[in-house]
Amino acid sequence: MTTPVYQNFINGHFLKNQSGETFAVKNPATDEVIYHVEVADAFVQNAAIESAKQGFATWSAMTPIERSRILLKAVELLRARNDELAKIEVLDTGKPWQEAECVDVQTGADVIEYFAGLAPAQVGQQQMVGEDFYYTRKEPLGICAGIGAWNYPLQIACWKSGPALAAGNALIFKPSEETPLGAIKLAEIFIEAGVPAGVFNVVQGAAEVGQWLTQSDDIEKVSFTGEVDTGKKVVASAAGSLKDVTMELGGKSPLLVFDDADISQAVSAAMLGNFYTQGEICTNCTRIYVHKNVYQQFIDELKTRTEQNIIAGDPMNPEVNLGALISKNHHDLVMGYIDKGISEGATLLTGGKALKPDSAPNGYFVAPTVFTDCTDDMTIVKEEIFGPVMSVLVFDDEDDAIRRANDTHLGLAAGVFTKDIKRAHRVIHQLQAGICWINSYGNSPAEMPVGGYKQSGIGRENGIETLDHYTQTKSIYVGMTDIESPF
Ligand code: NDP
Repeated sequence: MTTPVYQNFINGHFLKNQSGETFAVKNPATDEVIYHVEVADAFVQNAAIESAKQGFATWSAMTPIERSRILLKAVELLRARNDELAKIEVLDTGKPWQEAECVDVQTGADVIEYFAGLAPAQVGQQQMVGEDFYYTRKEPLGICAGIGAWNYPLQIACWKSGPALAAGNALIFKPSEETPLGAIKLAEIFIEAGVPAGVFNVVQGAAEVGQWLTQSDDIEKVSFTGEVDTGKKVVASAAGSLKDVTMELGGKSPLLVFDDADISQAVSAAMLGNFYTQGEICTNCTRIYVHKNVYQQFIDELKTRTEQNIIAGDPMNPEVNLGALISKNHHDLVMGYIDKGISEGATLLTGGKALKPDSAPNGYFVAPTVFTDCTDDMTIVKEEIFGPVMSVLVFDDEDDAIRRANDTHLGLAAGVFTKDIKRAHRVIHQLQAGICWINSYGNSPAEMPVGGYKQSGIGRENGIETLDHYTQTKSIYVGMTDIESPF
């Protein structure tokens, strides 16, 4: 059977490359190639820039309310095609249908809707300076680049294009080579909604195509989602042309469970924050610090629920709540971390093995895994694993727990479970993380800014401030009096 071949999406349509180079995309749940994609060669890259220049000229000349109307049409189309798009995400990523069906497309559409609404509300300032005055305009940056990770491919494309386009920019987006289709579908939807050709182009390929975007002198900003080490390369490369950068990178986030917490709720949060999307979520609370008075209760309930309530298998089956990891390589990497956890002396509470469910025997599944008796110096406690692997640690002193939680170069997210309202805020204010939850974990509405402290990122996505990251301020001084000149 022949599989489809997708071309790059440039200037409102598919564009054939000249090199003939393609790459294969596999369904992680079956290990089968499902389609091929053409790599963006120099011909496609030039076309992407030239059409983005044209697209930017047209789009930025429209009023914000005109842009808003078109983006809201795209939101309508995204929602109307929810199931078709969710299925693409399941086949590309291996995540369960029961998640993609209600999260991936919806949360992407929400963000475009949010920024479409905000665009016409962006205002400058004016101030009198004696009899003269100045005013400011919020102007778009020009052509921006978006580079995405593979865990939420369509959502990431929406989270980057929403604010970029609302502010009047053009965006060239490169999805991960593992999950390239969602962004193409978004590009088609933008065109159907009335976004001018060239405003949202999709280029395909691996690191070299990403590098080209970060180096190009025609691109003003790069918004990147991916690993910390890749992020450092992107920032270094973007510095060559002094591009603005937004970096959404990895984490090793702590969740602190105090002895007055609702333990069932805390276990729910820990399971969501480690096993949802089979653990492939940047904000996951992979370090769970539990107060010694409730430690046994916590791990007893965690073990029971993990062993009874997780259903791995064909991700398209709506009953399945644990999907396949993105690739064989990543599967092996996660299994390597599990081996390290065992060899460094952590106790395996549950899981710790690869799974071969009957309905998806060739998929890259890993059993939800919980390590107890962990110590702060273990590799599994220090490094981002990006799989369903949780480390549980004990504490008995609030200050010490905060110190240990902060003892990392990462700072993406953090959480606290306690019924003591003063302690909740006192603790969360001391945690060095950009995205925090109290008696909750993982929710990320369009209205709430998200991004990392320390090496977890630069800048923010979502929330009002993100629009500022896609605009630049022009100050205009207006002389109302005669110029005083010594000449
Ligand atoms: P990678 O860093 O491997 O890749 C991210 C993107 O960058 C991909 O499109 C990749 O292309 C591209 N890329 C690779 N090398 C370069 C380069 N030198 N220059 C420019 N682009 C490059 O991340 P993953 O895809 O493995 O994603 C997982 C990571 O993403 C985790 O660390 C996770 O924490 C983080 N993440 C962070 C989020 C946040 O909001 N903070 C959200 C989601 C994930 P290709 O893959 O095709 O090679």
